Amino acid sequence: MIAPGMEIGILGGGQLGRMLALSAARLGLKAHIYCPESDSPAAQVAHAVTIAAYDDRAMLDKFADAVALVTYEFENIPLATVKQLARRVPLWPGIDALGVAQDRLREKRFLQAIGIETAPFAAIDKAADLTAAVDVIGVPAVLKTRTLGYDGKGQFMLRDGAQCAQAWRAIGEAPAILEGFVSFEREISVIAARAISGDVVCYDVAENEHRNHILDISTVPAAIDADTAEQAQTIATMVATSLNYVGVLAVEMFVCSGGKLIVNEIAPRVHNSGHWTIDACLVSQFEQHIRAICGWPLGSARRHSDARMRNLIGADADDWGALVRNRTAALHLYGKGAARPGRKMGHVTEIFPTGTLSAGKD
Ligand code: AMP
Repeated sequence: MIAPGMEIGILGGGQLGRMLALSAARLGLKAHIYCPESDSPAAQVAHAVTIAAYDDRAMLDKFADAVALVTYEFENIPLATVKQLARRVPLWPGIDALGVAQDRLREKRFLQAIGIETAPFAAIDKAADLTAAVDVIGVPAVLKTRTLGYDGKGQFMLRDGAQCAQAWRAIGEAPAILEGFVSFEREISVIAARAISGDVVCYDVAENEHRNHILDISTVPAAIDADTAEQAQTIATMVATSLNYVGVLAVEMFVCSGGKLIVNEIAPRVHNSGHWTIDACLVSQFEQHIRAICGWPLGSARRHSDARMRNLIGADADDWGALVRNRTAALHLYGKGAARPGRKMGHVTEIFPTGTLSAGKD
């Protein structure tokens, strides 16, 4: 059991690491960030920082020796890095969960194996596989690299079978999967936390809208009926339990007609669609993650307000002077320097009395 005053290691220096470090500090723990970048958002609020490459074996060993446990804030960390750390220090969530979530093919197969519905898919290792898969799955379909894709990167939407060669080139001829296009009514996500004891809590379902492939708005509650919401939480619980997961994860799903749920993706970490929990719940996703990995009991995931979180992307954050005047919203800025297009600079969460957003979009 980790006690207040101890140092916990976080791989990754982005805004998720920053918010994890802030939650750790609230609980009297000390965050030690490991990332290659200097002046990262997380380092600005941490107790200690190691600036080194993810394959710097000597620095990784030194880091492991300085902390009581390690966690991570993004899933694209090389597996060799986490394996090296895990030999010296407890590391949560486990390597298995990371391996599944890093590879879209393994992820889909895992979901299928536990009886959770996904889009139809096929493994693509060479150009001929793609032509054959398009014959079976049809179009539209989405070609996605198996690894390292995020925010729509490494994806190509095929609208016509004649686009196979173009699609294969566009994703860099990397190992991929072809997914049938799901015609969904809305996109939702469930943030779940699982403790070392096996206890699971789920936050209320968020409804997510994207702009240019990047999350734009999360609204809670989602405009879905209670049965669908319960089913979404059951799916997230099954995923967490089947992975023997410890910490917070997000499960992104499509809601199709009749309330049918199809899982799109698992994120083995705190998630952008859970930022509203900071301002609308007693215990946020970040604190929940810290509690789980430290072997502490989970806190309440109860939501005390309806919420709408909007990401501040690029120049959106230039409006901070106006946003900070809104008395029913909380402004979060990540301490990043240049507001490049597409860069997540902060977010703003508006809260409303419970029931205000329950009929869906107002
Ligand atoms: P992903 O990187 O898998 O999270 O995909 C990013 C976004 O692309 C999703 O949030 C959806 O809006 C869209 N998308 C991805 N896969 C599919 C699919 N198979 N069918 C329909 N839309 C998809």
